[in-house]
Amino acid sequence: MLMLDGHTRAEMWRHLISVIEKYLNEVHTARVAPELDADKIRALLRECDFQRPISPFDAISLVADGMWQYQVHTTHPRYFGLFNPPSTTMGIAADALVAAFNPQLAAWSHSPFATEIEQHLIRHFGYRFGYDPWTIDGTFTSGGSEANHTALLTALTHSFPEFGEDGVRALPEQPVIYVSSEGHHSFLKAARASGLGAAAVREIPVDDRLKMSLEALVARIARDRVEGFKPLMIVATAGTAGAGIIDPIADLANVAEREGMWFHVDAAWGGGAALVPGLRPLLLGGIERADSITFDAHKWLSVPMGAGIYLTRHPEVLERTFRVATGYMPRDAAGMDVIEPYTHSIQWSRRFIGLKVFLSLLVAGWDGYAEHIRHQIAMGDHLRRSLEASCWEVVNRTPLPVVCFVDREHPDGRTAEYLDAIVHTVVAFGEAWISTARIGAGQPVIRAGITNYRTGPENVEALVAVLNQARSRESDIYVGCNSEAV
Ligand SMILES: *Cc1c(COP(=O)(O)O)cnc(C)c1O
Repeated sequence: MLMLDGHTRAEMWRHLISVIEKYLNEVHTARVAPELDADKIRALLRECDFQRPISPFDAISLVADGMWQYQVHTTHPRYFGLFNPPSTTMGIAADALVAAFNPQLAAWSHSPFATEIEQHLIRHFGYRFGYDPWTIDGTFTSGGSEANHTALLTALTHSFPEFGEDGVRALPEQPVIYVSSEGHHSFLKAARASGLGAAAVREIPVDDRLKMSLEALVARIARDRVEGFKPLMIVATAGTAGAGIIDPIADLANVAEREGMWFHVDAAWGGGAALVPGLRPLLLGGIERADSITFDAHKWLSVPMGAGIYLTRHPEVLERTFRVATGYMPRDAAGMDVIEPYTHSIQWSRRFIGLKVFLSLLVAGWDGYAEHIRHQIAMGDHLRRSLEASCWEVVNRTPLPVVCFVDREHPDGRTAEYLDAIVHTVVAFGEAWISTARIGAGQPVIRAGITNYRTGPENVEALVAVLNQARSRESDIYVGCNSEAV
């Protein structure tokens, strides 16, 4: 029962592939967002009591139908949401291969080919981010959160060699870390999980362009020193989740250097810009000075979730952070010049995360990815222009394709209530998915991000059309946008 017979397998693969192909070919005809009804879903699942086995065909159809019906289709070309792209075709193939071969990436000797592929990718990505090829090290992670957590642990180990053995309670001073108030909240979890506690995260205010304020950062570090804390790590965000803002990376690198602190760049999404020659200056000239970098291949590189990457230019620090001695792990590679993955990672048994990146890159090449990223940047620009032409006001300034806007025309056009209502109407139409967010000092905005390689100008225009429709529903006093004046 666990392994189906050859004939059934052959049929089942055909069925599976037809389900996948139907999804890829027809998802654009689906509602982008589902009805949210937990009771209906639970009623469906109550039928699945595992008492009477069903056929593999019925089983696959059951879950495929469920996902069709009850999922925000992040792979839809009018999903303008968070950084949840559709998968690359080669990424889907990779995940199937990985499931079939099921390589164990804990010990090098069990999966030497897979482990070397990941190391090869780590070196290539490190190089793209400007690291010296001789000192690049890193590890694949479940995602950006684990990469950020890894960054905190390596920063602690680097600054406090006794941390790994004796823990936070043995530290002479309490470490604190600095992230902009627009930075990612995974640092709060990392601080909790590492034993520092979330209060160790200093959320530094941003300037009027939503970048971390240098004055506020320097002042807070000085105050923390006076109060007996140990300023440990500065995090620059390259592409904030809310508004796609890139912190002043080089300036923050200078502060970290002057203060003797670990410098981490969270480039989970925005790191994609380092792969495009014309966009590299957005990050380079700063990011290569980072002690560690987070990059998420499941964001701008569009591979299936989850595929995070942690990079560092301290080749010994992962090993110092994660090495443990065991009596049972394979020793076949002892004495060889190789990296044992389980001594480099929070994880132990580990899936071959790198294959979906490797196969996608082999087939698209760096140039294919550069073209994809340039296309999305162009769609972001197109969206900004189309919104402005319809009298929506774009309020974030970034070259990256995340657009935050309010309604310039409507008297309540900057209030959370009004913007929530617009977004609610748009999502309820089923034509597109967008969201509201708060940026800066809590300013409510509508947020639309380009995350799909299939999103073209017609989808962008459809979004603006449906926004305009929602706006005219909101108000009978609305008289229309005087776009000639723009
Ligand atoms: C997405 C994101 C994260 C978290 O990454 P996951 O892959 O969701 O764990 C962290 N930082 C930034 C800037 C992100 O965009």
